[in-house]
Amino acid sequence: MKVTLLGTGDATGTPVIGCDCPTCMDANNGGRSRRLRFSILIQSDTGQVLIDTGPDLKWQMIENGIDHVDAVIWTHGHYDHYAGFGEFHRIQYNVDVYGIEETLDYILDYLYFLKPIRHNVLMYEPFVLAGLTFTLFEVKHPPVKNAVGVIVYEGDKKVVITGDAIRTIPSKSMELIRHPDLLIADGIVPPTMNVKKHMNAQEAMELAGEIGAKEVVLTHLSHYFEPHDVASKTMPLGYDGMVFEL
Ligand SMILES: [Zn+2]
Ligand SMILES: [Zn+2]
Ligand SMILES: [Zn+2]
Repeated sequence: MKVTLLGTGDATGTPVIGCDCPTCMDANNGGRSRRLRFSILIQSDTGQVLIDTGPDLKWQMIENGIDHVDAVIWTHGHYDHYAGFGEFHRIQYNVDVYGIEETLDYILDYLYFLKPIRHNVLMYEPFVLAGLTFTLFEVKHPPVKNAVGVIVYEGDKKVVITGDAIRTIPSKSMELIRHPDLLIADGIVPPTMNVKKHMNAQEAMELAGEIGAKEVVLTHLSHYFEPHDVASKTMPLGYDGMVFEL
């Protein structure tokens, strides 16, 4: 399986419109602080699946040579995770989309003109796409009522994506996400800061330790980190276009 972080930014992405902080300046100068909004591409030998469709999807597809997807899975109904689906207009019709019922209700109301093929999925019920097994697990991302993370299995390999989540994860989910080969964790701000809807980088690293992740990468990153080349010396920050082969 090949995993590509298409976008490692938070809801605004970096640079933030109108901001001239050192991290946004680095982003403007073409550095790795430049972060498009959240999307992850999962590829197997037989197909490719998008986890979330952030608003920057068009350029993510072009820069990463993606000409179609076999399916989309949505983690929750926040704009920075679904709005880019509109980029499939006139490019790919009737895309198969997967998620829990409440999330699909919300997103498909916004995207009604695109007529994707809807597949309701239950949390903790595995389903197969492109030869990979996916399981959605409950996370907490207040005030969203129902947000999920995603586990991807291929043979004995396991990737866990927290989606947007706080550090408190339901115990049923904690049991399921243990010992991943790769944990892709929401770590929106540096350890010195706290936000109510997300883990900070330190909490994400604690989660990685608690579940015994072999490797961890932080994503959904804000401009409050130092520029990428500095901040990534002490924390495993992801960057746009980062690839993992498992
Ligand atoms: Zn988000
Ligand atoms: Zn900034
Ligand atoms: Zn969110």
